[in-house]
Amino acid sequence: MSLIDEVCARMREAARVAKLDPDAFALLSKAERELDVEIPLHLDDGSLRMFEGYRVQWNDARGPFKGGLRYHPKVDMHEVEGLAALMMVKCAVVGIAFGGAKGGIRVDPKSLSKDELERLTRGLVRALGDDVGPTKDVPAPDVGTTAEMMDWFADEYGKMVGRLEPAVVTGKTIGHGGSEGRDVATGAGVFIVYDALKRHLAIDPETATVAVQGYGNVGREVARQFDHHGYKVIAVSDSHGGIHREEGLDLAALAAHKEATGSVRDFPGAQNITQQELLTLPCGILVPSALESQITASNAVYVEAKVVLEAANGPITAEADMLLAKDGVVVVPDVLANAGGVVVSGFEWTQNRENVRWSREEVLDRLAATMKTAAEDVWSYSQKHATTLRIAAYALALERVTAAEKERGRLR
Ligand code: GLU
Repeated sequence: MSLIDEVCARMREAARVAKLDPDAFALLSKAERELDVEIPLHLDDGSLRMFEGYRVQWNDARGPFKGGLRYHPKVDMHEVEGLAALMMVKCAVVGIAFGGAKGGIRVDPKSLSKDELERLTRGLVRALGDDVGPTKDVPAPDVGTTAEMMDWFADEYGKMVGRLEPAVVTGKTIGHGGSEGRDVATGAGVFIVYDALKRHLAIDPETATVAVQGYGNVGREVARQFDHHGYKVIAVSDSHGGIHREEGLDLAALAAHKEATGSVRDFPGAQNITQQELLTLPCGILVPSALESQITASNAVYVEAKVVLEAANGPITAEADMLLAKDGVVVVPDVLANAGGVVVSGFEWTQNRENVRWSREEVLDRLAATMKTAAEDVWSYSQKHATTLRIAAYALALERVTAAEKERGRLR
C-alpha cells in the first residue's frame, strides 16, 4: 500500500469511530488540488536537467494550506498526497488555523552543489507561481530541505510579487524572519508529548531506555531531549547505519564523531548495527525519526519497545499498527508526536504577519502549552471511544475539519 492508501484507510476507520457523515469522508479523503511541475535546471557545467516538482493542497477549511517541501530521490505524487493528508490531520489535532499540504522535488540534494540547489529552489517558486502565498499555501522544510532554502524561497517569491512577503514560507533562518526555536521544535515537541502522556504508559521512567532511528534535524534533538531529561539513549542510526551501547551513549562525544566522520558508525565503545536491527532492540521507547514504512508486517512482531513515538511521518504501516496493538505496544502517532514543527511554523507565520519577534522562551512556552493540550485531547478521545491514539487523533481532526467545512458551506 502506498502512504496515501494507508492514510485513507486510517481516515475511514476514524470516520467510523467519529460517526462522520459519508459526505464528510468523501470530501476529506481527496486532495483539493494537485500540482505537478517540470523545473528546468542549468547545472554548473552548463548542461540542462529537468526535475519533477509537486505540491498537493489537501484541504484549507481551517486556514491556509500548510506543509513542508521534501527533496528526496523517492518523492512521487502518491507519497506527497499521503504526506499532505497527514498535514491536514496534524494541524487540526494541534488546533492551529492551517489546512494541510505537502510538496517536493524528486532529487537527491546531496548530488547537487549549493548554487544548483539555490537555482532549483528558485525554479520551484517560479513554477508554483500564484499557487502559493501567505494566505494561500505556506511551505516549510521537510526531509532534505533546510532553513537556507526557505530563505531563497521567500526571496524569490518576494521578487515575483514585487514586495516582501516573509510569511509565504516558514522555517527560515532567524536573520530572514525565521522564528526562534523552529530548529528544535519538532524534536522538542516529541518529548513534550511523551512527557504529557507518560503517566498513562506502561513504562518506568527511571529505567526507560531510548533508541532513535534517524539522526537528522529531528532525531538528534529527540535524543538530546531524552538524554537531558535523564533517560539512557542506547542506540541511534543515520543513513549509513546505526550504533548500540547498552550503558548509554555519550551524545556530546557522538556529535563530535559525526561531525568528524560524517556518520554515527564506528563510534568508539559502541557496537555497529543496521538501521533494521535498531528497530528490534530491547528498549523502553523507540523513536523512528527518518522516513516512512520502517515498521511493517515483516518486522513489527520483533519490536520489543513498550512505546513507539513517531517522530517521522508514516514510519509504521497500517498492518504493522495492528500487530503492535496486539502485542500491547503503545504507538504515539506522527500527527500528534511530530506536530511541534508545524506549531512553531504557525508561530513564525504570526510573527511575520505582525512584524514582531518572540523570544525563544516565549516560543517554547507556547509550544509546550499547545502540545500538552493536544496530547490530553487525544488521550481522552482514545479513552472515551476505546480506540488507539492514532485513530483518536484522526477522528478528532476529522471532526474539527468537518465542522469547518460545514461553516464554509461545502458540507451540509
Ligand atoms: N515538514 C514538517 C512536518 O511534516 C513541518 C511542516 C511545516 O512546518 O509546515 O510536519
